[in-house]
Amino acid sequence: QNFQNVALIIGVTGIVGNSLAEILPLQNTPGGPWKVYGVARRNLPPWNTNHPVHYIQCDISNPSDVALKLSPLTDVTHIFYVSWMSKPTEAQNCEVNGSMFRNVLNALIPNAPNLRHVSLQTGVKYYVGPFELFGKVKPNESPFTEDLPRVNAPNFYYTQEDILFEMAQKKRDLTWFINRPRVIFGFSPYSLMNLIGTLCVYATICKHEGVPLRFPGTKAAWECYSAASDANLIAEQHVWGAVDARARNEPFNVSNGDVFRWKHLWTVLAEKFGIEEYGFVEEEGEGSSLRLSELMKDKSGVWDEIVKKNNLQGTKLEDVGDWWFADIILGMEAVLDNMNKAKEHGFLGFRDSKKSFINWIEKTKAYKIVP
Ligand code: NAD
Repeated sequence: QNFQNVALIIGVTGIVGNSLAEILPLQNTPGGPWKVYGVARRNLPPWNTNHPVHYIQCDISNPSDVALKLSPLTDVTHIFYVSWMSKPTEAQNCEVNGSMFRNVLNALIPNAPNLRHVSLQTGVKYYVGPFELFGKVKPNESPFTEDLPRVNAPNFYYTQEDILFEMAQKKRDLTWFINRPRVIFGFSPYSLMNLIGTLCVYATICKHEGVPLRFPGTKAAWECYSAASDANLIAEQHVWGAVDARARNEPFNVSNGDVFRWKHLWTVLAEKFGIEEYGFVEEEGEGSSLRLSELMKDKSGVWDEIVKKNNLQGTKLEDVGDWWFADIILGMEAVLDNMNKAKEHGFLGFRDSKKSFINWIEKTKAYKIVP
């Protein structure tokens, strides 16, 4: 087959990597037909085997592994970087995530003569600072627009952006695109931050134990408007960024374009798992709330039992239950971002968040991660 473009997805088993792996090879995807390479750290998982992607197992934090496995990819035209590793401090995040990104660019830029575009996914923490400094540094005021200044604190997104700008300075024909999603609704049992998968696992454990599906968050999160970014929508925006001249060399927010309340989605979650008793239970004391990281810390044996009993994919609870992340997202009133810039530049994509929520729950069930 004659390909028009050649994509390299870094983080192909992750929550957006999965969506890119599904969307890029489709016949009608803009810029296509695309040849697609996909890189991730572990073996190809069973839920990725149907994608027509050349899979490369490579640890991008290891420069010699990257040189060995990625520098031979001389036909790559576009890099989609949707990967990160989590470290205990943001200073370490900057160090590690900066060098992972640099390793990839250093292997490709000198060896892939037709490389002309790099798409980098960061997130709304650009506007508020890293998780570890929430409440300690002054965030930008929401709703967030792309022109807001950086927060005065270390942030691996800034490190990655600066590396990208430096590379684009040196290689003048290289264009770039950056997007900033908020909490992502998608599918990936290997993601470090998969809220829907985590909630599905929590609901499965509640059902198994015959206990109510209590909302593990604050009243503010239960009652107030929240927003999300659908993983397929993000992937579509990455593709738009790669083919539309209006998107070139600019950062863009990417969110569904609507708002929802967790109390409404919670009903959907309870119905999907056949749980009749559910909801938010107000506790004594200011700001007190249920924490999933507390509630779920001794459940790995229970999870192994559930997996066996229901003949599910063999996952470990620590992979599919990102409790700390759910505690952060459901533990605060959401801050909203603004999608006008993307629309003004020609990206009109949107999602209905409730339909998106249902779609990814169904996918998590269809791939037998939960019953
Ligand atoms: P993810 O955790 O879902 O997936 C990461 C991918 O990178 C996986 O395929 C993993 O195998 C791969 N990977 C990790 N370390 C690797 C290594 N050393 N070598 C090779 N591959 C490696 O990723 P994500 O959540 O899409 O995160 C991408 C960016 O999006 C991050 O900057 C993250 O902060 C941001 N973001 C994520 C969310 C969310 O809800 N998940 C929300 C907003 C922003």
